[in-house]
Amino acid sequence: MTDSPADLVITGCTALVHDDEERIGFEENATIVVRGGVIESLTAADPPPAVEHIDARGQVALPGLVNCHTHAPMVALRGVAEDLPTEEWFNDVVWPVESNLIERDVELGAWLACAEMIRGGVTCFADHYFSMDAVAAVVEECGIRAHLGEAYFSSQGPQGREKSLEFALRHRGGAAGRITTALAPHAPYTVDDADLAATAELARAHGLPVHLHAAENRDQADTSLERHGVTPVEVLARTGILDTDVLIAHGTGILDRDLPVLAAAGGRVSVATAPRGYLKFAWPTTTPVRALRDLGIPVGLATDGAASNNSLDVWESMALTALIQKSTTGDPRWLTSRQALHHATLQSARAVGLGDTLGTLAPGRRADIVLVDLSGPHTQPVHDLAATLVHSARSSDVRTTIVDGRVLMRDRELLTIDVPGVVRELGERMPALLDRSHGGRIQEYDT
Ligand SMILES: [Zn+2]
Repeated sequence: MTDSPADLVITGCTALVHDDEERIGFEENATIVVRGGVIESLTAADPPPAVEHIDARGQVALPGLVNCHTHAPMVALRGVAEDLPTEEWFNDVVWPVESNLIERDVELGAWLACAEMIRGGVTCFADHYFSMDAVAAVVEECGIRAHLGEAYFSSQGPQGREKSLEFALRHRGGAAGRITTALAPHAPYTVDDADLAATAELARAHGLPVHLHAAENRDQADTSLERHGVTPVEVLARTGILDTDVLIAHGTGILDRDLPVLAAAGGRVSVATAPRGYLKFAWPTTTPVRALRDLGIPVGLATDGAASNNSLDVWESMALTALIQKSTTGDPRWLTSRQALHHATLQSARAVGLGDTLGTLAPGRRADIVLVDLSGPHTQPVHDLAATLVHSARSSDVRTTIVDGRVLMRDRELLTIDVPGVVRELGERMPALLDRSHGGRIQEYDT
């Protein structure tokens, strides 16, 4: 096997690595050898013969970023509902517009979203939306990795839940293993207890994880307590969702009384944080990253959909997470740049259930790699490489994005997506998509 050339070698880079205690370090002048979509070695040795060679001198190699919670097709709604409180954002704009969505809109949105993410160094995203067959087809074609779930509300009746299961079973392991799947109830305020309990049963029966919104903000937690006497996290516990491998989006409304409930969870709980939206909606709290760390719960980085976040820029989520943690804890020593990079790498991989295959550049891991150019004036000089990456570099400094050893962007050029064609057709769809004269909406926001 070693007689045949490697598929890809990357030479001359500085590689972000983790030691046995998961501390982040940097390996200078590294040679990364990729074979069969997997990292074969990361050493200082001379490169072996290879089909493809990338000279990455002056660049930093990182594990590809993971967007742990998004609604990729919502890039089509980027900027349509601005400067509004959460309730008006959902009820007056987003949910009425979403009632116009056809599968082609979802597909075009997914193409645009994947282009934006690949350009920003994202190699995997966890998506939670409707018409997800269209998203899976885009993932298959464009070469990115994804963790996909067909979202549903109880207002759809049992068909919603059944469709989510059917999607998860049909696409699990799709796109040559790049697609993993989850059951995707929308949230405890739109999916009732009976449906959540049935979902937990299905998850256990089929070995599927669950991805949902919960305790998104403090209002939801307070309303849940007033109406039902329990918090959203306690709802997840009593319906059995916490006994599954569950990815909770946001959790800014997680209360102190929820912490022992999360600690006692029988499954594997993780949380995705998407801080830009919390700032934009003026939510009073953020994801309790420090308390979750103390419970050993991974917190992955996310953007949520672009209708609230305006971008799918995980790089920005990393910097904002570090800054908001410092601000909300009043402690400049919490969250350091190295901790932020730990969230961006291993914790994000764990959050989407891929902690054993992604998240670190090491032999045996999938070759999801991004190369970052730090030669720009805004990143020089480099005194502390972790700080440069988190607080000075930008997603636009990513030069090359690789998934499963396949180059999807080389020197900023996308190799698998026709962005002008997608933008043109999406533009033609806009009048029909934005029409709200029908007065309908797909769901009501009433926590
Ligand atoms: Zn969301």
